[in-house]
Amino acid sequence: MKYLQDVDIREKTVFIRVDFNVPLDRNRNITDDTRIRAVLPTINHCLDEHARVILASHLGRPKGPDPNKSLEPVSRRLSRLIHKTVEFVPDCIGPEVQKIKQKMQPGDVLLLENLRFYPGEEKNDQDFARQLMEGVDVYINDAFAVGHRAHASVHAVTLFAPICAAGFLLRDEILYFHKSMEDPARPLVAIIGGAKISSKLTALINLLKHVDKLIIGGAMANTFIKAMGYQVGKSLVDDSLLDEAKELMSTALQKGVKFYLPVDVIVADSLDNRAENRVTTIQEVPADWIIADIGPASITLFNEALQDARTVVWNGPMGAFEIEAFSRGTLAMVHNVANSFALTIVGGGDTDVAIHKAGEVNKFSYISTGGGAFLELLEGKKLPGILALEEWHKKHQSA
Ligand code: ADP
Ligand code: MG
Repeated sequence: MKYLQDVDIREKTVFIRVDFNVPLDRNRNITDDTRIRAVLPTINHCLDEHARVILASHLGRPKGPDPNKSLEPVSRRLSRLIHKTVEFVPDCIGPEVQKIKQKMQPGDVLLLENLRFYPGEEKNDQDFARQLMEGVDVYINDAFAVGHRAHASVHAVTLFAPICAAGFLLRDEILYFHKSMEDPARPLVAIIGGAKISSKLTALINLLKHVDKLIIGGAMANTFIKAMGYQVGKSLVDDSLLDEAKELMSTALQKGVKFYLPVDVIVADSLDNRAENRVTTIQEVPADWIIADIGPASITLFNEALQDARTVVWNGPMGAFEIEAFSRGTLAMVHNVANSFALTIVGGGDTDVAIHKAGEVNKFSYISTGGGAFLELLEGKKLPGILALEEWHKKHQSA
């Protein structure tokens, strides 16, 4: 596929699909601008080349136009970050937008209104995509977080843009994923935790084809502990997946993948900071209690398994870490992965929060910006957004 650095964008009109889906408080103040800062390298590069820069994104899941889901607050924050006026247009297609696009000068930056105000965006509508691409010379996709969605601004647009390429953020996501899963330095260790085994089962099955060790923690582990025949009390567990869990463990054994589960856990009588809690082995979880975190022996065990790792891929916290009493397992994992001598790649919204909480952001090789998209990569899927760029490239290579 083509990347931004391979494309001549000098004084061209460049349409960049970004992910500005930032959290807003009830006064519509941006509470975290990480997603905006993540695409600054791409925007700055385009400005260095005196391109006319058009930015487009979704925000939230509006059903039609919704002032609470406007991208207008983002234009102000972005202005501050790039020290430059960012003109905001309260629409993303139509004659008004077209007029403004035509008047743009090299170095101008335009932010369009929420793409999802039009149903055509999520429907991957070709006519909507064609209108987005009107007057555009170069289309850049830098929105990894929506790469798993075949939406108009990531998919259908590639049929209408004269040139299509991946921005720096999308490039990094692809390269780091390649380094961790397709061509890793070994041993490759995957750590999977979090709450819902059902949404991550496909990823676990695919991981068995790639990894040398698989570490399971969080509520995810409960289903496996139960599948081994132990009781898990009132813990979060997926009873419909006990057979799959058993099968997965035997596949791991067959393939020679070292499979790690917690050996001890923190149990509590409720998921509350003031709840009574204690450490117990997985063999002795009391009937009325809840497994809320991995225990100290598991922290040591998992850390030992990480000692010789040269690549670590991590998704999902080790416990209900939002509650301080049950955060120790996850925070210890953050420190242990951060301090390992490995290429460390992390994905997942909650895992990201845990890393920030522990203050170790800078010690990770790469933190993915896309939870759902990252998970689909772990599942071994090809993302529609990336495929569209590859197909464009294939079609135009000969030309
Ligand atoms: P990510 O967003 O990193 O992919 P998930 O969304 O899959 O992670 O899971 C995160 C959630 O899992 C957190 O809200 C955390 O509280 C919860 N969780 C982890 N372990 C447990 C547990 N033992 N019991 C209940 N909830 C848990
Ligand atoms: Mg989550």
